[in-house]
Amino acid sequence: MRDSCARDITYLRLSVTELCSFRCRYCMPEEGVPKRPHEEICSPEELVEITRQAVRCGVRKVRLTGGEPLVRRGILDICRGISALEGVEELCLTTNGAALPRLAGPLKEAGLNRLNISLDTLRPDRFAYMTRTGRLEDVLQGLKAAAGAGFTGTKMNVVLMKDFNDDEIPDFVDLARRFPLEVRFIELMPIGEGGNAQFLPAEAVLEACPDLRPAEGAGVARRYRPPGGRGLVGLIEPMSHRFCGECDRIRVTADGRLKPCLHSDQEIPLRGLTGEALRQAIAAGITAKPQRHHMTETGHSDAKRNMHQIGG
Ligand code: SAM
Ligand code: SF4
Repeated sequence: MRDSCARDITYLRLSVTELCSFRCRYCMPEEGVPKRPHEEICSPEELVEITRQAVRCGVRKVRLTGGEPLVRRGILDICRGISALEGVEELCLTTNGAALPRLAGPLKEAGLNRLNISLDTLRPDRFAYMTRTGRLEDVLQGLKAAAGAGFTGTKMNVVLMKDFNDDEIPDFVDLARRFPLEVRFIELMPIGEGGNAQFLPAEAVLEACPDLRPAEGAGVARRYRPPGGRGLVGLIEPMSHRFCGECDRIRVTADGRLKPCLHSDQEIPLRGLTGEALRQAIAAGITAKPQRHHMTETGHSDAKRNMHQIGG
């Protein structure tokens, strides 16, 4: 289905939990977030029904996110239910990777097609500082487990931060040279705990690695290939405004509210709806999708939630 700006909306990002095993400084408060009563969060059956109706509106690709989707009890049931729906061409999941040594194999069996693994630094001390509770070694084991379970086309999400990981840009690009991975550098957005002070434009990647060569594009990412490399480098530039025109996505929060745009405060409640009524609510959300966000002008997101509540 097309929105009012003629963008074809084919991609649903479904948040399955607000909770997380990490406390990344740009995403979560140090004390974590209060666990909400079970009944306030969509059940696996509700998530599957939302997806079924979104598919009727033209959605073809679904991403499970959070919080950390792998801490959600029932994540395998959610994957099984959604992957079995006719019309879902690709089921992906974005994770901090720490639980993949245990879950990569079962996720593959449950019908998950692809993984994005978030990793902002390759230095153990920096990793412990940024995530507050995480260990780099667990994520590296998670990457291995994903490959071992047969996942291909894995992407690595790297949030660029000035004076934190800008000196590691060549190391990340080197990963894309050595492994069949797409390393995606993401601009830090002023949402939730994410401020402006550490913002670094994704253009910095091209300055640090001038040998990168343009490759075929993929949706909101500008893509490059390291010469002779096995993988790709992607730039995701929500702040430098190379994003909204190609945006093909809608989001649903773990408590069942449709967000037509990550950075708008507009939310459409979906809970309690099923069948045609639910399809109509989702279609109304697609129609209401704004043309673009205004973070670049205002310096802040209009979303009234943190990233761990929306799913990035
Ligand atoms: N816990 C999972 C993870 O970290 O991959 C999934 C949820 S997380 C909110 C999804 C993505 O959003 C991660 O790659 C994370 O780095 C990114 N993210 C969180 N806050 C951000 C911010 N303020 N600006 C840019 N990216 C952000
Ligand atoms: Fe958790 Fe992901 Fe947020 Fe880090 S970015 S605190 S791993 S939800």
